[in-house]
Amino acid sequence: MENNTNALIWFRNDLRITDHEPLFTAEKLGLCALPVYIIDPREYEITPLGFPKTGEFRKQFIAESVIDLQNSLRAIGLELQIYRGNPEEVIPELAAKYHIKTVFAHAENAWNEQQIESKLRHQLASQNASLHLFHGATLLHPNDLPFEINELPDIFTNFRKLVEKKFIVRETFKKPKEIKGMITERISADAIHQLFSTTQPIIDNRAVLKFIGGENEAHERVETYFWKQDLLQVYKETRNGLIGADYSSKFSPWLAVGAISPRTIFEEVKKYEAERVSNQSTYWLVFELLWRDYFQFVMMKFGRKLFLKYGIRGAKTDKKGSNYLRAFEKWANGYSGNSFIDANMLELKLTGFMSNLGRQNVASFLVNDLQLDWRMGAMYFESQLIDYDVCSNWGNWAYIAGVGNDPRENRYFNIQKQAEMYDAQGLYQKLWLEF
Ligand SMILES: Cc1cc2nc3c(=O)[nH]c(=O)nc-3n(C[C@H](O)[C@H](O)[C@H](O)COP(=O)(O)OP(=O)(O)OC[C@H]3O[C@@H](n4cnc5c(N)ncnc54)[C@H](O)[C@@H]3O)c2cc1C
Repeated sequence: MENNTNALIWFRNDLRITDHEPLFTAEKLGLCALPVYIIDPREYEITPLGFPKTGEFRKQFIAESVIDLQNSLRAIGLELQIYRGNPEEVIPELAAKYHIKTVFAHAENAWNEQQIESKLRHQLASQNASLHLFHGATLLHPNDLPFEINELPDIFTNFRKLVEKKFIVRETFKKPKEIKGMITERISADAIHQLFSTTQPIIDNRAVLKFIGGENEAHERVETYFWKQDLLQVYKETRNGLIGADYSSKFSPWLAVGAISPRTIFEEVKKYEAERVSNQSTYWLVFELLWRDYFQFVMMKFGRKLFLKYGIRGAKTDKKGSNYLRAFEKWANGYSGNSFIDANMLELKLTGFMSNLGRQNVASFLVNDLQLDWRMGAMYFESQLIDYDVCSNWGNWAYIAGVGNDPRENRYFNIQKQAEMYDAQGLYQKLWLEF
């Protein structure tokens, strides 16, 4: 007998239980839930450039986030099940096995993920089951935008001005209290690490922060950055820093895996503004979250075009591509010969993180100075960044390469000038090159 009160909840880049509409809905409807996380082997393949699509730092961070999610779910009555395989195959098999007619998940905004969603939807339909997707990755809900996605302005400032006219941020969904579970089988943390094949990478002690995955750690970071250290009120002045934990929020790894939602951060900003101070810095953090949203919407609008060499408008550039592997390897491994670039690339290689200022400079260097295909850089970042997010990464790279949105301005960064301005005493370069 099929059971319409069973629901499979598929966790993707939404590894949290607060502000989680699928879970909230399951509780509201009194459904019996099967929470599932699937390790998709395609995400861990070796790229044509010879490194894995998901590097060790990110893999470790995702595994930690999944373990933390497992604990949080257990506290509300659910036992997370973890599988390896293609979600569009694993989920229909589970639906058949457990007589499930309803699958809930958060929508993803990038091309490959959407292909998987549509295959899954099709397969489920053939089993008389359905996929319900919710939007929870952005600050602004796509349905609240004052334009259709295909009319998204090509220039960020125009987008921002339009959305700021009538700024709608939906309230967060409360953490569920208790949901009936379908399976009680427990998977140990060790077994989860084995499923991910994590290698517990050693993080260099010069790292800006010891990033640990999970919703609890995400909230801990908000607590520290906003409340304990009161750093939000100076964010705008410090955000172009290079050394240490304090110059920027460092929320990005947790946002990337959805351990915290942008709406939750927004609510904390509002609380901070009410209880501490409201100034340009508090506004600026929301402004940066809007950049993040913008790249999600750009991805929704342009789909696979964002991964093409000539970008979303077919701009012809004469970048040289994979024949220039040697120059690429020097760049990636931190011996390009330019000390500011090399310091940044070493930080990335040894810790999985790099400041926004560093990212802009090394990307411009690869595109404009080395004249390489920007996608080589984007692929390397995808592998190496602990906070890799498909929309933010490919969107920012295309933007700097001049093949994305807003191609009007020259994105050339004068590396020497930047180093003199932001690393005047050379402390950052010393930290990474003279250790
Ligand atoms: C070439 C390049 C590649 C990038 N790849 C990624 C990526 O894969 N994942 C990622 O999260 N960010 C990426 N960024 C954006 C930005 O560098 C990081 O979000 C930021 O450095 C993370 O540090 P933070 O959390 O301390 O940021 P903060 O300065 O504290 O900003 C707060 C949040 O705003 C968002 N944000 C800030 N700047 C940007 C931006 N330019 N684009 C989109 N969102 C932004 C992030 O979610 C960030 O966590 C990239 C930037 C460049 C230039």
